[in-house]
Amino acid sequence: ITFDEFLRHWAAQRPDGLALVEGERRTTYAQAEVLTRQLIAFLQAHGVGRGDRFAWYGKNSDRYFLLLFAAARMGAVIAPVGWRLAPREVGYILADTESKLVIAGEDFVAAAQAVEAGIDNGPAVFEAAAAFAEAAGMEPAASFAQPDPDEAVLQLYTSGTTGNPKGVLLSNRNLFSLRRASRVANMPWDKLDAQDCLLGAMPIAHIGGTGSGPIAVANGIPVHVLPEYTPDGTLAAIEAGTTLLFLVPAAVQFMMQHPRAATTDFSRLKYLMYGAAPMPLELLKEAVKMMPATGFIQLYGMTETTGTVSLLPPEDHDVGGNRRMRSAGKAVPGVRIEVRGPDNQPVPTGEIGEICILSPSNTAGYWKLPEATASTIDPDGWLHTGDAGIMDEDGYVYIQDRIKDMIISGGENVYPAEVESAIYGHPAIAEVAVIGVPSAKWGEEVKACVVAKPGHEIDAADVIAWARERIAAFKAPKSVDVIPLMPRNASGKILRRELRAPYWEGQERQIS
Ligand code: ATP
Ligand code: MG
Repeated sequence: ITFDEFLRHWAAQRPDGLALVEGERRTTYAQAEVLTRQLIAFLQAHGVGRGDRFAWYGKNSDRYFLLLFAAARMGAVIAPVGWRLAPREVGYILADTESKLVIAGEDFVAAAQAVEAGIDNGPAVFEAAAAFAEAAGMEPAASFAQPDPDEAVLQLYTSGTTGNPKGVLLSNRNLFSLRRASRVANMPWDKLDAQDCLLGAMPIAHIGGTGSGPIAVANGIPVHVLPEYTPDGTLAAIEAGTTLLFLVPAAVQFMMQHPRAATTDFSRLKYLMYGAAPMPLELLKEAVKMMPATGFIQLYGMTETTGTVSLLPPEDHDVGGNRRMRSAGKAVPGVRIEVRGPDNQPVPTGEIGEICILSPSNTAGYWKLPEATASTIDPDGWLHTGDAGIMDEDGYVYIQDRIKDMIISGGENVYPAEVESAIYGHPAIAEVAVIGVPSAKWGEEVKACVVAKPGHEIDAADVIAWARERIAAFKAPKSVDVIPLMPRNASGKILRRELRAPYWEGQERQIS
């Protein structure tokens, strides 16, 4: 199934049903079907054909999604560029993709032009509103070469949490294979109907944001687009009738801390999906209490797997001490997950290894990085995630942390996410990140970097004692840094490598 088929289907079945809403702008499925064919005509008129790349540079926008639909129907490749990136990073992506044009959202035209000027043979820059006005006057493309379902139509860069972002190639099959499989197994999002409304709050430059497009189009429901995530804007959208949304854990936390949350009626929110980074258990319990009528769904996945490959359903969010609340759930239908050891063979149930995935949603590879592709994807299609995990006898997966972030202290392995989750509930601590720093005695020792809640003082000895009451002594931090601001990337993920850097200057950190 492809974007082309879904758009034709819903344009016929639900012509007046909304496909996209942004502010006052509303696009029905019938309009989206015609508009994407006009955009195909526009792209072709400007030299973008099948297999060619073009970029979106701007905040989240209904116009980005329409361009994605158009690219996916004609087999061009769209690359959304994060608007929070520095000009040098934007220039890198525009040059790396060899984009023929860049369509810039409001307020990003001048920045796009400045970046383009620094690239040899750089892309033509169009303002989004002008491009859409031009497209609206064009004859909708009636026939166009349909891409092969395995041809790339979307190039998404990884979040850059562990190093440089890598361009991941995704196809129509990648985007829809699991949606189709999930219909058979009655997954949560298969219970959606025409009244449902998905909020697109996370940045479209990442799979957690862009993924709203295929979920909506597969179900014939609208995406209500938030140009950028704000706690207030998200709460307002929930009050206005959002029934489904995806947030990273930091965004859940910021939303809950906002004063407006205390008076928000969450009862119409059917599902809150969260994931993309470790969810502290205490935060999850607080969230479940604050939104008792909402079904919580943890998602685990990565850009390379087009997002979700495992899912913890609402039934497993039982605050009464269900240990499964620490789990990222089970493989979704159509996906196989194995936990493998260094010999690339499955480890026994309950033991730690690397999470490996076989899924029709797996990318064919990274753009222009054949070595990274070869070291990530086995010849038989299994993808190595770089995440350490455990699988229990029922197939539930417990993500420990990234293998690169594991701390080896006195010969013991410590996973920062577990330590962070233990420290998280401390009354004076708003945010916490755990890193390994060099130690003459232990090789590496555990350090906690913490941000205080407003009006609170943090006492290092007290934090260490708090941790020791909750986890094994060797996992508890040996030292605590109080920092003013947590370094995070645009996906809301903590940049532990930045916190580590000053301690490792001039030394090579060994990673297992
Ligand atoms: P880069 O690959 O550039 O370092 P990244 O891995 O953060 O960046 P993404 O593809 O956005 O880029 O994120 C995928 C990663 O996010 C996973 O490999 C995993 O480490 C983490 N992750 C995703 N879902 C969860 C989850 N439910 N719990 C814990 N971690 C998660
Ligand atoms: Mg990654």
